[in-house]
Amino acid sequence: MRQYNARAAFGPTQPFQTTAIERRELHPRDVLIEIKFCGICHSDIHTVRGEWAAQAYPVVPGHEIAGIVTEVGPEVTRYKVGDRVGVGCMVDSCGHCANCEKGEEQFCRNGMTLTYGSTDRYGHMTYGGYSTHIVVAEQFVLRIPDGLSLEEAAPLLCAGITTYSPLRHWGAGPGKKVGVIGLGGLGHMAVKIAHAMGAEVTVLSTSLNKRGDALRLGADACESTRDPKTFESLAGKFDLIVNTVSAKIDLDACLGLLGVDGTMVNVGAPSEPLSVAVFSLILQRRSFAGSLIGGIAQTQEMLDFCATHKIGADIELISAAEIDRAYERILASDVRYRFVIDIGTLAGDDVTASGG
Ligand code: NAP
Ligand code: ZN
Repeated sequence: MRQYNARAAFGPTQPFQTTAIERRELHPRDVLIEIKFCGICHSDIHTVRGEWAAQAYPVVPGHEIAGIVTEVGPEVTRYKVGDRVGVGCMVDSCGHCANCEKGEEQFCRNGMTLTYGSTDRYGHMTYGGYSTHIVVAEQFVLRIPDGLSLEEAAPLLCAGITTYSPLRHWGAGPGKKVGVIGLGGLGHMAVKIAHAMGAEVTVLSTSLNKRGDALRLGADACESTRDPKTFESLAGKFDLIVNTVSAKIDLDACLGLLGVDGTMVNVGAPSEPLSVAVFSLILQRRSFAGSLIGGIAQTQEMLDFCATHKIGADIELISAAEIDRAYERILASDVRYRFVIDIGTLAGDDVTASGG
């Protein structure tokens, strides 16, 4: 095993500390990546705080990883030392079930391995990208195209694919009206991508302070979900709504914004159950759906799409010491629009806690 520095949470509300974690020696098809940047996703916060499930601490979050290949196993064919690469939310799956064979590894019937907080096929706990290096099987490594900087590309590995996948699945494009609820990390990527696909995009935010940003990101309009008039003036307007909110919202009010056969897809993952009145669906034959990240092939397609359309995330670069403060700001919806950790600031850090 090899030891590397990481920022770890040792409890749900304890401040992050620098620790040493172990990564496996390379198997023949593994690559070693020196992590340069890692985005902070709201899922990191749900996980660390134990909102979805009890955790085995320490937790080293981070599934928006961008870096450089520094070593490859003897059977690696896709990557070589020096390549610019990314890793998203999963690092393994069975590879042979019907869903893996379709390229939808996120729905692996035998359970995919999450980038952090999972036990991998070798029996080791997985640790994410708030660390200096990661060892990953090459099938789960993505190529970051030239033309995208590593720091702007990092958030695409989760926020990008999580919004690209449902936009593609439900046919966002010219002539389609798309609503995006919540202008945070996922929301701002949904706006950029839906706009690039040719859809008419409306942001539905709790804060009209973000209107200027919404229009700059590519939205055609931005309306307040705190103003009851919004739900009258936009009633029946949308073909597709992507709900990115990390908390419980009034879904019935939002479903009223869909036209006949419209779909609301939930990518936001609050821990509390959401409720829907059946009449919100049956009166206009509406659908309420969910979507989970995207497969590896589609993640590469998304990265290439973003490079073609010159789409990166709007980021605020922080040091590894500033993660706790970033979490507080995300929880206050004060993020414009993704915090990205400069992992270089962690490399020389003294280890202050053990147990990783
Ligand atoms: P984020 O950056 O915190 O953005 C969430 C946005 O939702 C906020 O900026 C805010 O936007 C709005 N919001 C927050 N609290 C709200 C409330 N109480 N009522 C109404 N609106 C509220 O989070 P994120 O990283 O984009 O992640 C969003 C959610 O998606 C999280 O639950 C995360 O776990 C989940 N997620 C799911 C997947 C998947 O595969 N399905 C993948 C990644 C993340 P405004 O200020 O504009 O209102
Ligand atoms: Zn995420």
